[in-house]
Amino acid sequence: MTSPQRRGTSPQRRILVTGGAGYIGSTTSLLLLDSGYDVVVVDNLSRGRRENVDPARLRVVDMLDTEQLACVMKEKPCDAVIHFGAYIAVGESMKIPEVYFRNNLAGSLSLLAAMLETGIRNIVFSSTAAVYGMPACVPIVETEPYAPLSVYGESKVMVEKLLDWFDQIHGMRSICLRYFNACGADPQGRTGEDHDPETHLIPLLFRAIQTGKPMTIFGDDYDTPDGTCIRDYIHVTDLAQAHIAAVESLFAGGPSRRFNVGTGQGFSVKEVLQTVEEVTGKKVPYTMGPRRDGDAPLLVADSTRLREDLGWRPEYSDLHTIVKTAWAWANR
Ligand code: UDP
Repeated sequence: MTSPQRRGTSPQRRILVTGGAGYIGSTTSLLLLDSGYDVVVVDNLSRGRRENVDPARLRVVDMLDTEQLACVMKEKPCDAVIHFGAYIAVGESMKIPEVYFRNNLAGSLSLLAAMLETGIRNIVFSSTAAVYGMPACVPIVETEPYAPLSVYGESKVMVEKLLDWFDQIHGMRSICLRYFNACGADPQGRTGEDHDPETHLIPLLFRAIQTGKPMTIFGDDYDTPDGTCIRDYIHVTDLAQAHIAAVESLFAGGPSRRFNVGTGQGFSVKEVLQTVEEVTGKKVPYTMGPRRDGDAPLLVADSTRLREDLGWRPEYSDLHTIVKTAWAWANR
């Protein structure tokens, strides 16, 4: 790994983090700081939380405001951008596609324009397993074709394609990280998952424990061993480390790449529920409901490329550690 030292006069490399007030963005920002990088966060706070960012590092700017973005980049010259700023709810994207395309696609284009203007040519992009839809082959390799089933997934595909063209035409190098199921909380308790509205499995299992109101399992008639969907759960700290490895590969002169970020191991909804009961020592009240539209039965990453090419290894992604850190965060 390269060190965060810059070649210029400034002692540190600086990273601009868009969406740095959100769950994954704020965790990655903290790890960048822990690793010796300087960080400036751009967030419009429409979904992110102000308290997730050191006020001295935060610039409240909307991604669509190219001029303001370029101002921040001039005020705080950066060596790379890590771009998290996006809306993430699959269901919502199918109700208000115009908002998702504006925020995720037009927002990214605006960011790229500001980067071109200010000479930043390195970007790590927050992509998703949703670019694959219902893949024919699992574990999923990065060569699996694009087949998104939602506007959210499509908006990420479109940005990946934009980035291909910007590399060809402008020499802007990009690493797209296709996340599987991000979960867990910073082991030091500094950041964690807190979406509003919450749609993710582990926080909803906790909520059921805390409120006594049953959560719903979306279907137990899938072609999986216990009938519930299987996902690849990746701890947010391991995900954040993948971003640092990605940005360092760009600093080392590496080419544009696309990587899956998952453990390669799948767990069913019932297995996650059982682990939550073991870790918390409490029963989860639940009911069995119908399938949720658009849910694939089985999504597991083949992360060989990330492991071999960037030397990445998950350290916190065993399910007990995930649930333990998330439970500590939920009870903070
Ligand atoms: N899930 C569920 N009940 C819920 C929320 C999620 O059964 O209230 C299931 C969902 O069908 C999927 C898994 O839990 O199989 C993970 O869903 P989540 O929304 O956390 O992430 P996704 O896989 O959709 O990105």
